[in-house]
Amino acid sequence: MPQPGHFVAIIGGAVSGAEAAFQLSKRGITSVVIDQYALPYGKIEDGLPKWHIKLRNQEEAKIDEKLTNPFVHFLPNTRLGRDVSFQELIEEWGVSAVLLATGAWRDRPLPVEGIDAFIGKGLYYQNPLIYWFNHCHEPTFHGPHFELTDGAIVVGGGLASLDVMKVLMMDQVGKALEARGIQGDIFTLDRSIQAVLEANNLTLDDLGIKPPTLFYRRGVEDMPLSPFPPTTPEKLEKAKKVRRKILNNYQRKYLFEVETYQVPVDKIVENGRLAGLTFQQTRVEDGKVIPIPGTEKSFRSPLVISSIGSIPEQINGIPLAGQVFNIADPETCRIEGFPHVFALGNAVTGRGNINESLRHGREISHAVITEYFDEREEMYRETFRTTENSVKEHLTKVVDQLSHSPLLTQEKMEALSLRVKNLQQKVGYDGDYETWVKNHLPMRLEELIGFGH
Ligand SMILES: Cc1cc2nc3c(=O)[nH]c(=O)nc-3n(C[C@H](O)[C@H](O)[C@H](O)COP(=O)(O)OP(=O)(O)OC[C@H]3O[C@@H](n4cnc5c(N)ncnc54)[C@H](O)[C@@H]3O)c2cc1C
Repeated sequence: MPQPGHFVAIIGGAVSGAEAAFQLSKRGITSVVIDQYALPYGKIEDGLPKWHIKLRNQEEAKIDEKLTNPFVHFLPNTRLGRDVSFQELIEEWGVSAVLLATGAWRDRPLPVEGIDAFIGKGLYYQNPLIYWFNHCHEPTFHGPHFELTDGAIVVGGGLASLDVMKVLMMDQVGKALEARGIQGDIFTLDRSIQAVLEANNLTLDDLGIKPPTLFYRRGVEDMPLSPFPPTTPEKLEKAKKVRRKILNNYQRKYLFEVETYQVPVDKIVENGRLAGLTFQQTRVEDGKVIPIPGTEKSFRSPLVISSIGSIPEQINGIPLAGQVFNIADPETCRIEGFPHVFALGNAVTGRGNINESLRHGREISHAVITEYFDEREEMYRETFRTTENSVKEHLTKVVDQLSHSPLLTQEKMEALSLRVKNLQQKVGYDGDYETWVKNHLPMRLEELIGFGH
């Protein structure tokens, strides 16, 4: 029998949502974690490239532990804005608070006029591409197919854009090796494509593969390849060296090209398809990127991939400030106009709550990354930990706000539990989280033999 208390709706069950539910449960607060998909793993399942199986399994186990807590209800396959409206959640449910832990799944638009008309006709964005790549080997995958080619143009510069370069090379080299009857798998390619080619006495030329090129608007030493911005001149100098080393390592192992100080300014269109981009050279002054007029140059390719960052997806009824949620109070990340609605984790800015974490002494993590940069998995592990820590700190403030609100009555708590139970029944979830997850885990890459296409 529920007691009077607080009942919080958390939208999104991944790193941020699960940590929020866990923090609330430690304070005896009941929550319902609502996720649009059957599995609550977010970026871990759909954004972290699929060769990171050890990290994926470890992070997903953490989420499982947090969501199998007596204070936490899980409601899968339910999307805010489609199955439950934001208005309904606020006006009809009557929960104590709503926490938006919906992440950042919308690609920042490539700033070339009219270019989005060519999505699927020579242009792909990073988020759906990685989603496809992570799932395309599953027999039950029926989502859109992505056709990759060699010689692609990738616009980007951060960690995620390096993943795109690897995906392109793995796809092209894997297919070419398979066509020659050479056995292998993605995990060997992940260690080093160059080493695989050497072991087979082959070069990219032998395979007829033109490498893709990464176009970045600043210099190599400016690339945001670690998630922690350096805070002192000494750390900046060290970070610059590390960035160059990371990129050199990646290029040596995965054989792609890089063009720096270039911004896209126009598109090349042929026969109704995107056939390349025109770039303008830049210089960086006081940290600002300044395009240099008269330096335009055309680069042709049948495939352009944009990997310039992610922002939160819009949800009907939630106000925006530009491309992100309209945050009224930076301390609690409360949404403008709604006293009990807060954003968490990547949903705040698309970049996690890094500054807040830094303020709370997480700078040590930067040292960890710069010392161990060669262990690529560590970089992602660190970003997950940073998000988790920022949510933990953030929840203290949210709970402080909650403590000023009256407790919900026993009847109200019961009514909310019943509402959630009805919705769980509607999607076929009987409350047995462990069995549900086991039944919905997709086929894993490690169960396959071959390059996984
Ligand atoms: C390639 C890559 C790059 C990264 N880059 C950075 C970076 O630059 N900075 C950084 O801090 N971290 C970065 N990370 C780390 C990572 O994104 C975060 O640490 C963390 O995973 C974000 O967790 P989250 O729970 O906030 O969001 P997500 O993992 O995105 O989870 C959001 C959840 O909400 C659900 N959801 C979304 N919309 C709805 C809806 N309308 N209704 C119901 N459910 C919904 C989704 O299904 C998902 O499960 C990166 C990770 C990867 C894999």
